[in-house]
Amino acid sequence: MLPFKLVYDDAYDLNLGAHVFPSQKYRLIHKRLLEEGHAAPEDVLKPSAASDEDILRVHTPEYVEKLKKGTLSPSEIARMEIPYSREMVKACWLAAGGSILAGQRAMADGWAANLSGGFHHACPGHGEGFCVIHDVAVAIRRLQADKIIERAMVVDTDVHQGNGTAVIFRGDENVFTLSIHQENNYPFPKAHSTMDIDLEDGTGDADYLAILEKHLHKAFEHFSPQIVLFVAGADPYREDQLGGLALTIEGLKKRDALVFGYARREGTPVVITLAGGYARAVGDTVTIHVNTILAARDEALRHAEAVKAHK
Ligand SMILES: [Zn+2]
Repeated sequence: MLPFKLVYDDAYDLNLGAHVFPSQKYRLIHKRLLEEGHAAPEDVLKPSAASDEDILRVHTPEYVEKLKKGTLSPSEIARMEIPYSREMVKACWLAAGGSILAGQRAMADGWAANLSGGFHHACPGHGEGFCVIHDVAVAIRRLQADKIIERAMVVDTDVHQGNGTAVIFRGDENVFTLSIHQENNYPFPKAHSTMDIDLEDGTGDADYLAILEKHLHKAFEHFSPQIVLFVAGADPYREDQLGGLALTIEGLKKRDALVFGYARREGTPVVITLAGGYARAVGDTVTIHVNTILAARDEALRHAEAVKAHK
């Protein structure tokens, strides 16, 4: 029913309980996509966990060992801001496997979405800000290792800067990192992406979309990726508890369409990952993420129509 695959597993849920990070959102997004008839069960692929070899292309052996053996220090766990458990670690390996699978499918089908991922604050040697394993970086490094791609672009519209992405790919000419985020928000200090767009508190739809368009134009002028990894983020929403921008649900839909329009202009494959979303009502977070999938569907169908009309 969808013109591309969704990657999902019930085990994506980190089971954090009453935490500001609503990790049950993965299950709710999957459920809503099926219940509302946007997706059929055959559109959904189950991922397998990333291998340690995959994880170690991005993260240090010391950090990986601490995660697996449960020997992180209390301050290292505090920095993650989510409780440590073996199950949580397993879910992170699975989410990274999901982004790898989405990357592979996108290269075959033009699009794919991991209904998780976008853990853009994870750094090579530590986790922070609810992010333990940088699934997007793991996927890029795997596609490069398999010689499926050389050049990738990360477009990160989560309200928080993608500092882990910036650190991992610093000085790497083959990976262009773009982050548009609220300047006066976590993380402090910010790392340096290839292109950072610092927004003022309270930026609304019109300003946001104009600024994003200008920078997407510049980014795609300077760099032609073989794949785009979209770290979507539902948290630029004006009702977000951890964000200070003022986008509406309609504005966020336009954001998604804008990103997809640029990415697909040259037919570049696109991988969607979800990243953050902490709306006062979890239902709004689910709506914003579902809308991202629907924006991709609309763009994919439009593209297919255009190709057909051309023949
Ligand atoms: Zn965020």
